[in-house]
Formats: sequence, structure tokens, C-alpha cells
Amino acid sequence: MDRIKELTAAMEAELVEIRRDLHRHPELSNEERRTSDLICARLESWGIPYERGLAGTGVMAVIQGVKPGKTVGIRADMDALPVEEAGNPPYRSECPGVMHACGHDAHTAILLGAAKLFKEMQGELSGTVKCFFQPAEETTGGALRMIEAGCLENPHVDYVLGLHVSSAYEAGHVGVRYGKMMAASDEFTIVLKGKSCHGAHPDLGNDTMVMAAAVIGGLQTIVSRNISPTDSAVCTIGKIRGGVAGNVICDRLQMDGILRSLTPAGRDFLRERLVSIVENTAKAYGGEGTAEFHFSYPALINTDEAVDAVKAAAVETLGEAQVTVETEPELGTEDFSYFAERRPACFWHLGCANRERGIGADLHSCYFDIDESCLALGVEIQARAALKLLKTE
Ligand SMILES: [Zn+2]
Ligand SMILES: [Zn+2]
Repeated sequence: MDRIKELTAAMEAELVEIRRDLHRHPELSNEERRTSDLICARLESWGIPYERGLAGTGVMAVIQGVKPGKTVGIRADMDALPVEEAGNPPYRSECPGVMHACGHDAHTAILLGAAKLFKEMQGELSGTVKCFFQPAEETTGGALRMIEAGCLENPHVDYVLGLHVSSAYEAGHVGVRYGKMMAASDEFTIVLKGKSCHGAHPDLGNDTMVMAAAVIGGLQTIVSRNISPTDSAVCTIGKIRGGVAGNVICDRLQMDGILRSLTPAGRDFLRERLVSIVENTAKAYGGEGTAEFHFSYPALINTDEAVDAVKAAAVETLGEAQVTVETEPELGTEDFSYFAERRPACFWHLGCANRERGIGADLHSCYFDIDESCLALGVEIQARAALKLLKTE
């Protein structure tokens, strides 16, 4: 057995213990105080220097090798969700209405394991490993605030790795993807203004209901007529509010929706087209239309070199047959994209299902759970991938 396998095998029980402790005590975004305390206590017990208070509850641990080399950052998110756990595992959430339904308890345990492993290998380590424990992936994008707090500098980070548990794969299986992996997300609100009057005299008013129908129809052409059939994007209107009675022409109408795109250029394009369709359609109908945006996470785009390292690490750990190279991006979002926007990076999927044991619920489901055998595998693959990147020329 090689050294990395030996070290990860030796920490398996500890990883399970940490993950169960976190699972029992989930904390919502930006409230990860106990989680942060637990991380610091473990780091301290292993003699690993760390900095806390980054982005509020964030923690950064640094393991500096004895030999020169690159610097690799590994990131885990710490926050839980406002979900009531419906399953009844022995480590069930003890906080009513809060649950680690996105597996961030596993991500945190795996990163702690990786920190411990690198500490144990410090004497033979080239370069530096920085571990980023970040708050608020689910809500306000703690990743960006960690970066703004300086985690990518001093020393300058050359690569960043991150993972997400995935119930699409059984534990012992991994998915990697080159290039575009997840979408950028923007929310928008459209307001249409017309003129109210009696519903029996539509000629005397200006009907925003009819205007809205034209706008919605027009918006469908962005994806179907303007986006390449080999690319993808989403434009969804999910909410409409307007009107007071069936016999009154509606003079003001509001629509809320989301845009998802897979490249920075695509993101700008969607926004420009949307504004143009809203303003010009409203104008053509004699009214007025405006669109306002609330920008969320950018698209997550992996770098080939970093994906190569993770893929090779996964093959060494699990064998070729257990590593899937994914062919389709997904239009979900993930704030690891802020790291990937700034450094060569790889975000990958660690299988966590065990359908024989009834573990396979989707992320964010109140029944979500993991097969804990994925924890040690996660540590092993992150460690092997980081070691490869530390040695790159
Ligand atoms: Zn989530
Ligand atoms: Zn998540």
C-alpha cells in the first residue's frame, strides 16, 4: 500500500466522526460558528497553523512543505440548508429545520482530512497547500468574500481544487468534466407600464397584460433563435403579478425570472437581449418596459490542466472504470466559480450514493445522505491531485 492510501485508511474513522458531528450540528449560511470552532480545534490538535475570521466564519489553514513548489488551494463549503431532515440516521440533525442536505458536512470533513494528511507528509512536501473553509455557498457567495479577504495571495495560489458529493454516482465512483461545468445565474425583474381603464373600453387604455404576453413570447426567442444549438442557456419567467379585477385594464405588471448561461460572453448576451426585447416590445405596444438584474454566481469553467490532475488522481485511487468524464454541463450554480474565474481550477463530483442501502436522494432533499466510504476516497483523490499540481513546472 502506498503512503497516501495508508494515511487516508488510518483516518477513516476520524473522518466519519467529524462528518457526523457536523451533520448533527448544521448551521445556516454565515452562521457557521460552531463549525468554524470545530475546524480550528482539529487543526490546532494537529499542529496546523490557520487564520480565522475570513469572510466572517471562514477559516484558512496553511501547510508549507520543506521543499519549494507551487501553491495549491483546496476549498470546502461549510453551510447547511433550511431543510427539516426527514430521514432518521443515527447522526440525524439536532437543529430543527436545519440540515446538511447538500453534503457540505462531508466536504468540510474531507478537507480537514486532507489538511491532516499534508501535515503528516510535510517533511516530503514540495510547495504549499492552503485549505479554504468557506461560509455561505448556498446564499451570498462566501467564496468571493474569502478571495476578497486575500486567501489567493501570500503565498500566491497557482491552482484551486474543489469537490461536491454527488448522488448521481455510487460511492467509489467519480465524475470530472473539462471546460464549462456549471452555469452563471442572474435574477431579473421586469416592470411594464401602461394605462388603466374599464375593461370594456380597451381602446382608451394601454393593456400591460397583452404587452406581457408579447414580451414573454419574445423572450423565448433568445434561447431558441439567438443561442447556438450546441450551446445552452435558460430564460425562465417564474412569477407574474398584475391587475386588480377581471374588468379593469391592467396598467402595471411585474414579472420575475432567472437567466442561466455557461460563458461570460453568453451571460452578457442574454442580459442585453432581454433588455432590448423588454424595452422595445413595450415601446411598440405604446407602453414602457424596464428590466433590473440581481447578479449571482458566474459560470464555473474548469481548466484542462487541473482536470487532468484530478482525473489521474481518481484513476490511481479507483481505477479507470470508476471515473466518468462528463459530457454535459449542468445549469445549476456553485460559488466555487469565483475561484475558477481567477485561477486554473478543477471542481469535480465525488460519488456518494449507495442504492443498495437506500442512499441516493438528490442534493437539497430532506432525505439526502451519503455513503461515508466516500470520505476517505475524497481525501485520497484531493491529496493525489494536489501533489501532482504542486510539482508542475
Ligand atoms: Zn446546495
Ligand atoms: Zn452544495
